[in-house]
Amino acid sequence: MTDTLCWCCKHAVPKTDRKGRYIAGCSWSMYHTPVKGWECSTEVVYNWGGKTITSYRVSKCPNFERG
Ligand code: SF4
Repeated sequence: MTDTLCWCCKHAVPKTDRKGRYIAGCSWSMYHTPVKGWECSTEVVYNWGGKTITSYRVSKCPNFERG
């Protein structure tokens, strides 16, 4: 089993420039909405402080950029 592609993607942590425009980030990292066209192999559900969180192991993503 491999880790999600997001761990080595520059969009995993949203960033803005001085004018507040996004220069990094994606629908997943900003809104927890899957990126259109990504491929994920496994769904992971875990408990975070009593709240159930759904996550994914992304294997391919059209927005991936190494970062
Ligand atoms: S762009 Fe794709 S690979 Fe990068 S953090 Fe977002 S979902 Fe993960």
